[in-house]
Amino acid sequence: MPMRFLDEMDIDGKRLFVRVDYNVPMKDGAITDDTRIKASLPTLELALSKGASLVLCSHLGKAKGAPDPKFSLAPAAKRLSELLGRPVAFAPDCVGPEVLKMAQALKSGEVLLLENLRFHEGETKGDPAFAAELARLGEVYVNDAFGTAHRPHASVSGVPAVMAACCGGLLLKKEWEFLGKALESPVRPYVAATGGAKVSSKLGVLRHLLSKVDSLIIGGAMANTFLKAQGLGMGASLVEDDLLDEARAILAEAAEKGVRIALPVDFVISRDAGKPLGEMTAAGVVDAKSVPADASAMDVGPATVEFFAGVLAPAKTVVWNGPMGAFENPAFAEGTMGVARILAGLDAVTVIGGGDTIAAVGLSGLEDKMTFISTGGGASLEFMEGKELPAFKALREYGK
Ligand code: ADP
Ligand code: MG
Repeated sequence: MPMRFLDEMDIDGKRLFVRVDYNVPMKDGAITDDTRIKASLPTLELALSKGASLVLCSHLGKAKGAPDPKFSLAPAAKRLSELLGRPVAFAPDCVGPEVLKMAQALKSGEVLLLENLRFHEGETKGDPAFAAELARLGEVYVNDAFGTAHRPHASVSGVPAVMAACCGGLLLKKEWEFLGKALESPVRPYVAATGGAKVSSKLGVLRHLLSKVDSLIIGGAMANTFLKAQGLGMGASLVEDDLLDEARAILAEAAEKGVRIALPVDFVISRDAGKPLGEMTAAGVVDAKSVPADASAMDVGPATVEFFAGVLAPAKTVVWNGPMGAFENPAFAEGTMGVARILAGLDAVTVIGGGDTIAAVGLSGLEDKMTFISTGGGASLEFMEGKELPAFKALREYGK
């Protein structure tokens, strides 16, 4: 069966069991950012407009398999009710006879949010018995939680396996269309811009991209390791010395595949190695070939941004993962902001993934100019590694 999404399903009058991502930041029992709750509204409103009733479930925080009032989803029920403009009932648990009764009593148009899934260890363990208990609460399974799409948890993999029908929600559908379809069969030229702190955390992404892209930009601290692998002195910059061979292997593979690699040609440096990032100051711009021994490359320089602009100019598809510098300090943010501006000006499909890259694009104020910004950190990275995520695997295998 091909994967199905909510807008293709016959759900009129059905009771839906919806896995949402309400893992919202909280402080002293209050939600500090309700973006994720707002993001779920299109899926919920579509279902409600078709006369479905909704049983919603999510995890919140680092609950360890037992109830913990700190991580109660009760505040999320209240906020959702305000946003939906209708009552949202809250269940004191996510399984058990009382919760089953509450779910079965739901009438068309009514909404019930369950208590934190991770109050039971069966959730993260992917326990089939726990999944079967959850599955009794609804008739159609809907997954709209991209943030946990890479986790084979009970509510992600187990419930769809035993439920009569299952599909993805509208949020999951968008992630699938852009991270999946747009990047798997891209309109060419296809250029990837990569960066961030560590080659080690991006090896899978780099290797997968090499098999797909026409050009690969490497910036951020990751570039330091590649430049050192080519024999350049990187001074006191962040370098992963244990990955120099790996970097050489990636460069060789790129050459073999005809993928053009673009590395920085200049850097904004600092002479404050060892200090916390917030206290470091910029000490000028140097050529990539002449980083002084006591200096750290903290951001790509203006000539690099111009060079990268040229590499990106012909692109019809672009994926960007990883900031070009230590952008959290404004002194080292210009390279990353420059790349954001370049992408914003392209006539191309632009797809952004990765927690810090998303934050950086947020700082640039250019979010509206990007085609798609993924909502998942870890999940989008695994997607970009070419892995089939457990959420999509389940929907593909059990879609009916
Ligand atoms: P993402 O979350 O988007 O996948 P990463 O977590 O891989 O991105 O990388 C982001 C981090 O990389 C940021 O915290 C940033 O400060 C750091 N970084 C980027 N370039 C440098 C650099 N030249 N030196 C030190 N840190 C860097
Ligand atoms: Mg990160």
